[in-house]
Amino acid sequence: MAKQRVKVRNWQLGREMDYWYEESRPVRQFTMIMDTNKCIACQSCTIACKSTWTWGKGQEYMLWNNIETKPYGYYPTGWDVNVLDLLGRQEWDGDVYAGETLFEAAPAGEYVLGWAPDEADWNHPNIGEDEPTGSADDTPYLEDLPHSLMWMYYLQRICNHCTYPACVAACPRDAIYKRPEDGVVLVDQERCRGYQECLTACPYKKTMFNLETRVSEKCIGCYPKLEQGLQTQCTTACIGRLRLTNYLSPPEASDPRKPADFLVHERKIALPLYPQLGLEPNVYYIPPIHVPVPHLMQMFGPGVERAIELYKQAKDDPELLGLLLLFGSTERIIDTFDVRDGVARGYAQDGSEIVAVPLREPTFVRPFEFATEVSGEPATGYRHNT
Ligand code: SF4
Ligand code: SF4
Repeated sequence: MAKQRVKVRNWQLGREMDYWYEESRPVRQFTMIMDTNKCIACQSCTIACKSTWTWGKGQEYMLWNNIETKPYGYYPTGWDVNVLDLLGRQEWDGDVYAGETLFEAAPAGEYVLGWAPDEADWNHPNIGEDEPTGSADDTPYLEDLPHSLMWMYYLQRICNHCTYPACVAACPRDAIYKRPEDGVVLVDQERCRGYQECLTACPYKKTMFNLETRVSEKCIGCYPKLEQGLQTQCTTACIGRLRLTNYLSPPEASDPRKPADFLVHERKIALPLYPQLGLEPNVYYIPPIHVPVPHLMQMFGPGVERAIELYKQAKDDPELLGLLLLFGSTERIIDTFDVRDGVARGYAQDGSEIVAVPLREPTFVRPFEFATEVSGEPATGYRHNT
């Protein structure tokens, strides 16, 4: 039976929009928060994911997790510029999106306005790596530097486990579904017939075609780990400690004790990637503070300037600072957190404490002795360890 357009609420757009299924939110929504300011593009996350999930035949080119250098990096080549170009002008009226989403702009007879990459577009996962551009002189962070700099930054990408997935909307076999218990989006490998409609529809290009089995695959949110209360492989492998696997409530049910709710709804420092596309993606980014604002507004929506200001003041905001320090501090999923007496603590769902991190590392000064190279006489002094 053909799907019918219905109105659904998309809080990231500040308005209702058209979609192909009724609004149906999971009991809790898997989410990931990325602090883009801390990434060094070491690709430890990429390798952790690849060696766990996509080491088989037919998966050679698949990177469910990838890191790309913006603005010139893409995987597949040109994924976002092609989609943005197709969609045309994207304007915001304050916090309300005034343009069309990919569902609203779908041509007659199609569910999503989509773009299909060529096979060759999957050949260059590191295209544009470390290539800077333009001038960062007018950015809020670098205004006091005595010399000019160009800018670039690293974007961490996994499937967004969207609230309104384009891959689900476009699948003619109903083979893609969203788990009601955690909102993870999965492809049923038995139902999929390899039509690849999802590859065209997903604007983030996070469904991939297995060349051996001839069916689609995608990031599974490390659900076997989630089921044990553990954070994903890419999160726990992250050298920069910039990722947080968590669960997000809708805005009206936000609980400031919960890490993702605090960052997304309370402080509004973590923002969705290309919210204007209309999928209500569930990966959130703390934007880089050294990049021109117009570029960031196209990437992350209208909340960018406020988020950057907050990040710059984080050292004076113990709650925010404490939560940022809890990133990468434990393999377990932190259900709630608090910051008291200079210590940030994370708690499991049953309320038990699972991690404690001081806001300031203690400084120890200890005496030491050494023989000087010249005289051979012992001397005493102090070494500072921080
Ligand atoms: S990012 Fe793409 S593959 Fe992932 S849920 Fe959204 S539409 Fe589907
Ligand atoms: S492991 Fe962390 S720091 Fe390294 S590339 Fe991935 S997100 Fe960036």
